[in-house]
Amino acid sequence: MFQKKAQQLRKLEKVLIANRGEIAIRVIRACKEMGIIAATVYSDADADALHVRIADEAINIGQARANDSYLNVEHILNAALACGADAIHPGVGFLSENSDFDRIVSESGLKFIGPTYDVIEKLGNKSTAREIAKKAGAPIVPGSDGPLKDVEEALKLADKIGYPVMIKAVSGGGGRGIRIVETREQLEDAYESAKKEAVACFGDDSLYIEKMILGAKHIEVQILADEYGNVVHLGERDCSIQRKNQKVVEEAPCETIDSFMREKMGKAAVNIAKTAGYQNSGTVEFLMTDDKKFYFIEMNTRIQVEHTVTEMITGVDIVKEQLRIARGERLSYKQQDIIIRGHSIECRINAEDADNRFMPNCGKINMLYVPGGMGVRFEGCIYDGCEISPYYDSMIGKVIVYGKDRQEAINKMKCALGEIVVEGIKTNINFQKRIMNNQKYLDGDFNTGFIRQEMNV
Ligand code: ADP
Ligand code: ADP
Ligand code: MG
Repeated sequence: MFQKKAQQLRKLEKVLIANRGEIAIRVIRACKEMGIIAATVYSDADADALHVRIADEAINIGQARANDSYLNVEHILNAALACGADAIHPGVGFLSENSDFDRIVSESGLKFIGPTYDVIEKLGNKSTAREIAKKAGAPIVPGSDGPLKDVEEALKLADKIGYPVMIKAVSGGGGRGIRIVETREQLEDAYESAKKEAVACFGDDSLYIEKMILGAKHIEVQILADEYGNVVHLGERDCSIQRKNQKVVEEAPCETIDSFMREKMGKAAVNIAKTAGYQNSGTVEFLMTDDKKFYFIEMNTRIQVEHTVTEMITGVDIVKEQLRIARGERLSYKQQDIIIRGHSIECRINAEDADNRFMPNCGKINMLYVPGGMGVRFEGCIYDGCEISPYYDSMIGKVIVYGKDRQEAINKMKCALGEIVVEGIKTNINFQKRIMNNQKYLDGDFNTGFIRQEMNV
């Protein structure tokens, strides 16, 4: 019986991690723990990077510019084939939500660790994703059906749904290609500038429009789905602390969500995943208003940066689950086996100058001290003497804490941020300390407008 099951599993002896930074390290660790050989790729700028040092193997895939290396499908595929990998883990950002990459990897006989390419294609297009959510019976934000044809259509729709509205890139991600439009007069400019950013960032200038939900929280639900149609959710995360639509602090669970609401949102997320034919780890993002109405905004078809806080409160290692699912294993638990306990908070540590419009900052870290203690976790890609290059995302680490309740988690985070030392480059650590001392944050009284309204930036 056992032997039969083992024979059905896909071979997963070596995984190529097609990424860099802290997420590459996170995946390398999971592979090693499971006895899987972890190979990774690196650009010329990353020859001394930590992910290269701790991987079992590392393959150079080109020059520093992401287009020549981490976004170069051919170079990455060649690396995977040359080292004899069975699968590719795409991490976050870069090619992780690129359906063509997924397809090419799969057609080469390798396993892409994530959903199938047709599902990434459907959900990566935020307009089709809205249709899927609607079909699954989940509420969506009032807005366009399909991409906008032109600015006239945008004006007409905005008049109908009422200002303020948001213009968003159909292929968007990472908070890019989004514009707030408060009045009719602003729409045309916003439309044009969103279009420009969308084509520059995503190579696709299609846009859609949504009513702007004011004063809402960003609440997202983590799901796991195997290849046999079993889907569970691991509860929600509150990621409302955002700067320019990008997450800065995340926590789980959300203070203002009770178990009834958790089940309701969880079920909506599971239904969306089932309707889409989803497999592996994914996140369904919602906006939630004060009166507890919630609206689907998008689904991220990959591991997320803030998966850590969910791991802390559920005890589930989401990256190891990704590897097991990719191997063809069934989920070994049901919804009722997922128990949420305690509270977890993550602060993203970015190499940026918080006093100067958060400009990315690079240089050498000449002194590093990473905080520790019970319930303190650090996920990073930095070490004493390492060089932060200007080519990639500015996130250099994440401090994650776990406490028996929110208050204990906040106290731990304050201690951890007080201990951490990163010298040689500018970081947002002081900015994070200010958030942890803000009364509204402490009271749990915040929404996606928090940083704009409370932090004067
Ligand atoms: P998460 O949704 O996991 O919180 P972020 O939105 O912070 O992640 O994105 C993580 C990284 O991936 C960032 O570097 C971001 O710029 C990048 N990213 C996210 N989505 C996309 C996308 N669709 N295309 C390109 N890069 C993306
Ligand atoms: P991305 O793919 O870049 O992550 P999202 O669609 O998830 O884009 O939106 C990013 C953030 O922008 C959300 O977390 C939220 O703070 C804000 N946002 C997006 N859509 C709306 C909306 N309709 N109303 C209000 N805020 C929104
Ligand atoms: Mg999002």
